[in-house]
Amino acid sequence: MQDTRKFINFDEIDENGPQSYHATFEIPVAELERDDEIVGVGPVTIDAQAEKGDSAGMYRVAGTVSFTADFQCARCLEPYPIANDSAFHLTFAPRPEASEENEEIEVGPDELDVEFYSERSIPLKQLAAEQIQLSIPMKPLCDESCLGLCPQCGANRNREACSCEASIDERWGALQDIREQLAKKKNV
Ligand SMILES: [Zn+2]
Ligand SMILES: [Zn+2]
Repeated sequence: MQDTRKFINFDEIDENGPQSYHATFEIPVAELERDDEIVGVGPVTIDAQAEKGDSAGMYRVAGTVSFTADFQCARCLEPYPIANDSAFHLTFAPRPEASEENEEIEVGPDELDVEFYSERSIPLKQLAAEQIQLSIPMKPLCDESCLGLCPQCGANRNREACSCEASIDERWGALQDIREQLAKKKNV
């Protein structure tokens, strides 16, 4: 049977026990945070299992989110493709009565992955979007050795050697000197 559910419904788990979900979404880049570092996202697939947690009102959700995307390199500003499978484990707990939506809630060290809910149904699309955001590196790079843009003329140095090359080489030379000095210090 094709699973067409787009929400995890806690009432359904209370009534029928643990549930499994499989859903695919198109998520526009504009709906994601850090959308300036993502050029495009392919279809996103989420597989999840949800069950009751240890205490009343708590639910555990675990699964994987798979997607392909184009991230923007922080050095050369070119898009580069990635394919990602990320596993997640979340615990949902009822939002404490007194707290406001935007108020910080203190959580213990064991509750770092706790998300507080006020609605008893959780959109699978929201969980998928969270995993995409978490998968974006602090500094996305097309390649560890990406040469980036020339700071003087803006040329992509992975593709072309611009005429500013000499001064760049001097800087690399200076860096090399520092490395050698550091290496000497370590050997003392
Ligand atoms: Zn790059
Ligand atoms: Zn240049």
